[in-house]
Amino acid sequence: MTDPKVHEARGHADLILRGGTVLTMDDDARRAEGVAITAGRIVAVGDSAELELWCGPTTRVIELSGRAVLPGINDSHLHGSWLGARWPHTFFGAADPEAAAQVSGTLVSSTAERRAAIQRAGKLLTELGITSYTEPGLGPGEDSGETGSFHSEVIEIYRELAAAGELSQRITVLALHGILDGPSDVATVVAGIQNHAALAGESDPAWLAIPGVKIFGDLIPLSRQAWTHHSYDDGTHGDLLVEGATIAEKAEGLAQMLRAAHLAGLQVGIHATGDRTVELALEAFAAAAALPGAPSVRELGHVIIHGDLATPAQVARMAEMGIWLNTQSGIAAYAGEWLTGMLGPEVATSAWPLGAALAAGVLVLSSDAPVLDFDWRRGIAAAEARIVATGGSVAPEDMRARLEQLLRAYTSLPAAQDRAADWKGTVTAGKVADLVVLARDPFEVGAAGLPDVAVDLTVLDGHVVFER
Ligand SMILES: [Zn+2]
Repeated sequence: MTDPKVHEARGHADLILRGGTVLTMDDDARRAEGVAITAGRIVAVGDSAELELWCGPTTRVIELSGRAVLPGINDSHLHGSWLGARWPHTFFGAADPEAAAQVSGTLVSSTAERRAAIQRAGKLLTELGITSYTEPGLGPGEDSGETGSFHSEVIEIYRELAAAGELSQRITVLALHGILDGPSDVATVVAGIQNHAALAGESDPAWLAIPGVKIFGDLIPLSRQAWTHHSYDDGTHGDLLVEGATIAEKAEGLAQMLRAAHLAGLQVGIHATGDRTVELALEAFAAAAALPGAPSVRELGHVIIHGDLATPAQVARMAEMGIWLNTQSGIAAYAGEWLTGMLGPEVATSAWPLGAALAAGVLVLSSDAPVLDFDWRRGIAAAEARIVATGGSVAPEDMRARLEQLLRAYTSLPAAQDRAADWKGTVTAGKVADLVVLARDPFEVGAAGLPDVAVDLTVLDGHVVFER
């Protein structure tokens, strides 16, 4: 894959990893034996003979000895500053749920505390091979929020760390103009959207991108607040997280915020768990995109976040429109039984349509840490378990194909969600050198065995930033 003449012009590599299995995660699922890196970029992906051409006196060579290389992991919905302030306390699956519950009130309030939380999260994530993440909701809506973790100042700290070259991951931020877990005021959110450029400011998009906004549609099924066509055990249908006297008024307010963001050219990550909320979002985006001069949905790449009760028809429509379903398989694993109690077994079985979304090419997986822990290996194992439990094929060739897709849902597809697929997310010459080395090839152990495969090494922008 390397043209020797290009090599002549560029000289020797800074770093070579060779003698293993490179899972490129590109569209053709190509594999190679190693990778060469110069000045933070991948310059060659190929066999030993090709890599030898890049070897020089100052090249650091890492012998993989059969280990696997993947693109750096991209956790596309992860609250970094909140995680850094709360860890090891998560909401689901905490080792000690009681201790986790006690972590409440203000977690961070000074600049130094917020910076320390980001840096702490950055180190934890590096140790698991995570080289990019999306902070889904930071901004003025939470400037007087309880935890202090979603304050606008967090954006400024990310900007300073990016400018100083001190970030441990590449960061995407969705700006938050409403409040977390409470009803949004439509006028405030629309005003914030129109003022996006001022909040987003200037930064190197390779390290900090602020392409759009987080908007809350509804809450979660477990509190009977996902807006749905189904009936909860108490006969209700959920609610929207928007100011308004009636559900119709709330629905119009939500549609108005979504249209405003779309017409401002912003990417929207909408927290939508109920099928009616998902439906409303798809319709609002389609209506906005149909206006003269408006950007297409596909170019903005909106994201349905969670999508617990999304239907197969909605998933198909997302694929047609170019909308991502960003969800957390671990939540399905922990909340499935409760959902049965709230909405009955039929709804619980069809919830979290991971198999359909994977097949449609719209599934992007994430941890929502600190809601769950940020172990992407467990995220993949939980997704596979859910798909199999809800009727997915267990034929070995289907399980292999699915593992490839599940790995893509943590690498190349979140890069596409970041609208950065042209420069990150696969192991491809020309892209940034963000890589993770695993102790074993995931295909030797399958999705269920992945949580036991150690992360050996993390490369960020061509630098080895973690070695086990
Ligand atoms: Zn979240």
